[in-house]
Amino acid sequence: MRQEAVIAPAAGFEPAGPAGASPADAPPADARPARSLSPSRAADFLTCPLLYRFRVIDRLPEPPSAAAARGTLVHAVLERLFDVPAPARSPQTAAGLLEPEWDKLVAAEPELAGLFADDAEREVWLAQALAMLDRYFGLEDPTRLEPAHRELQVEAALPSGLLLRGYIDRLDVSPAGDIRIVDYKTGTAPRADFEARALFQMRFYAVVLWRSRGTIPRLLQLIYLGNGEIVRYAPDEADLAATERKIEALWRAIERARAAGDWRPRPGRFCDWCCHQALCPAFGGSPPPLPAVRPGAALPPDGQDPTGARDREYEL
Ligand code: SF4
Repeated sequence: MRQEAVIAPAAGFEPAGPAGASPADAPPADARPARSLSPSRAADFLTCPLLYRFRVIDRLPEPPSAAAARGTLVHAVLERLFDVPAPARSPQTAAGLLEPEWDKLVAAEPELAGLFADDAEREVWLAQALAMLDRYFGLEDPTRLEPAHRELQVEAALPSGLLLRGYIDRLDVSPAGDIRIVDYKTGTAPRADFEARALFQMRFYAVVLWRSRGTIPRLLQLIYLGNGEIVRYAPDEADLAATERKIEALWRAIERARAAGDWRPRPGRFCDWCCHQALCPAFGGSPPPLPAVRPGAALPPDGQDPTGARDREYEL
């Protein structure tokens, strides 16, 4: 059932700006400072400082999961769907993209092929991905959309020097120049307390666009393909200024944790999905020694996700 949890006008985006692949808003890699934060890593620290440490400081590898791989596959199909001429963007076209996109993912990451015990298990998993794509067509009509960008890499430096970075699933620009940020989630719409968390990610992206383009996005839209719900939110300047202050405060907390070497576990609901339990004191484990860091050295950029799943942790 479609639900618009935070209602804001959605019209005006269908006959959008120029179609095509996404040029990055990002500066050249060699110009990037090391103090950077993505919404996924910000969420990690908020969830559990030790999880942030394992992912950003220790850079521990994480095994692929069927849920994360399904999210990546569905995102890839929805990105490619807009390469097809508008009238042909049908559920059948999306279904036809599933296998080729899966083959591409496996070619890039061969360990994904080992996710399934046999073909039957893989077929069930593919059918779940197909059901999510079918649900998408019940929420939007892609024949009436021409996204301005897909999988858009964005970056913006805050006045403090902290670099914010991330990837936006889809950016729509109306003929009037209004911006809509769209994010696909392959999980289900969260309860109210977790919804604030999902919207933090969207506000984070809105701050990046506001700071890099000088424009406040008119609409933030989360599309939950797990249960067919849409959450929309219209930010304003006060909202984004508050989000920016929150991000800066979060970064100061990360720097304090790093200076003290104090990365405490914060057990909670996410532990069920955390693959680092064996190293976590909350589960009787011991973290490895912290890697040596030169005094005054900056944290490594956190944009690369050790799981290879980029922002997909949000979908669990
Ligand atoms: S198991 Fe839980 S408490 Fe431990 S690192 Fe993972 S998320 Fe944090």
